[in-house]
Amino acid sequence: MKTNPYISKKSIIIICIVLAVLAIFSVCFYSSRNSGDVAVITCDGKRVGSFPLNRDRLIPIKNSRGTVTNTVQIKNGEVFMKYADCPDQICVKMGHKSKDGESITCLPNKVFVEVKSHVKSDIDVTTN
Ligand SMILES: [Zn+2]
Repeated sequence: MKTNPYISKKSIIIICIVLAVLAIFSVCFYSSRNSGDVAVITCDGKRVGSFPLNRDRLIPIKNSRGTVTNTVQIKNGEVFMKYADCPDQICVKMGHKSKDGESITCLPNKVFVEVKSHVKSDIDVTTN
């Protein structure tokens, strides 16, 4: 009976190590899976930036006069048009996008949002 506490203590340590390794692997897998997914936003033919979908944020889109015409929101790995001052509101109704190749277009404001996989995000360099 003297060896039992030793074995259980040892097995607890092993279980802890296994759990830690599994946690690290799942985090790596999760982040590597999502890090390639970005929302590429262009406004009037100009590139606003590419924003990773794994980081929640609001992106105000300004026109050439400096007025915010659209607001793109990234939340829970999805991108959608939260606000637009266009009359048709089609872009707002397009809903949430998260898959490679899906896009949101606001024709009146010339705003284009496209989801792309395996694209390196440049947002940390440009505007954060
Ligand atoms: Zn619109």
